[in-house]
Amino acid sequence: MDCIFCKIVSNEIPSIKVYEDDRVFAFMDINPLNDGHLLIVPKAHAATIHEITEADFLAVMSVTHKLAAAVKKALNPEGINLMQLNGRAANQVVPHLHVHIVPRWSGDGLPICNWEPAASDMEKIKDVAGQIQEALE
Ligand code: 5GP
Ligand code: ZN
Repeated sequence: MDCIFCKIVSNEIPSIKVYEDDRVFAFMDINPLNDGHLLIVPKAHAATIHEITEADFLAVMSVTHKLAAAVKKALNPEGINLMQLNGRAANQVVPHLHVHIVPRWSGDGLPICNWEPAASDMEKIKDVAGQIQEALE
């Protein structure tokens, strides 16, 4: 498969590796948004949250938790953004699931996720909640 992150996991393409276990691989983003920008990926290819197994997703999140603590200890950022994008509409560029750890400092010039909350219709919110609850398996 022609997947850049699969090639990184198999060492066909070099990367600056920070962590590896039997399910998960973590490496430095090649275009870091800030110092310490990391990517955490499952070793088994899965494009998005909809394809990854629950076990692999939990393993990725567990490593994310561990690495966030290491980033805090090493770089002492004032905050950390976790980002995990699914699908082109969500701005996912590489279709192999990954979690970004982006250390943040106030005044670092990166955008804050500050979309404006707008008042909504409570009946509509309840209706959508019902649709999601019905879809739960
Ligand atoms: P997303 O798919 O969530 O929008 O972001 C993909 C991320 O992968 C980007 O932050 C980009 O810099 C990073 N990236 C793309 N290609 C490579 C690569 O070959 N090596 C590494 N280390 N990072 C990459
Ligand atoms: Zn892949």
